[in-house]
Amino acid sequence: MSTTVRECSICRKPVAPRAENPAFPFCSKRCRAVDLGRWLGEEYRMPDRQMDEQEDELPRDAHPERTGGDA
Ligand SMILES: [Zn+2]
Repeated sequence: MSTTVRECSICRKPVAPRAENPAFPFCSKRCRAVDLGRWLGEEYRMPDRQMDEQEDELPRDAHPERTGGDA
């Protein structure tokens, strides 16, 4: 006889069976929201990185022909 007890992947508490738990496979709606927040948090990190790289990519002093051409 195997009683499969699921663990909440957020807080490690036992999870109630799906029939009586609207937040399945999490122990509560709150933990489900936490899991969702983690997903979104990782997505938001990517644009942050891109902005950092853009600051490095502005070669403004790369025009040698403009200096001393019309003198
Ligand atoms: Zn939980």
